[in-house]
Amino acid sequence: MSDLRDLYQEVILDHSKKPRNFSVLKDYNRKADGHNPLCGDKLTLYLKLDGDVVSDLSFQGSGCAISTASASMLTEMIRGKKISEVESLFQKFHHMLTEDAENPHQADLGKLEVFEGVKEFPMRVKCATLCWHTMKKAIENDHEVAKTE
Ligand code: ZN
Repeated sequence: MSDLRDLYQEVILDHSKKPRNFSVLKDYNRKADGHNPLCGDKLTLYLKLDGDVVSDLSFQGSGCAISTASASMLTEMIRGKKISEVESLFQKFHHMLTEDAENPHQADLGKLEVFEGVKEFPMRVKCATLCWHTMKKAIENDHEVAKTE
């Protein structure tokens, strides 16, 4: 198991050092800001919605390794997905990070499973979910800043 954990940490480090889609999208039609005051993570998500499909997205911001890696992986995972698919991914992701022994997650989250170890650090759960809360705001076209509190 420790090998797996090392691998997970490597993936997170790689994404935090070289975040993917770290730019301002040229032709975005949705944008939302997120802030996690507990850690100081801040990010802005840019989305291009085509009907109910997220056809493109990017982000910018500054924060800890977990929040940056999570946002980077989110932008890779949900390009081309429908809003309903994004919402169900968020639910599964959130559940994985907050599950207890009686209610274990069974979802196949693919690459997002690398964040499973974060659940042992409740403060870090907010870092990992910040970009998802922000994503929800962008989809809902809500201009308030997404907060993790
Ligand atoms: Zn953080």
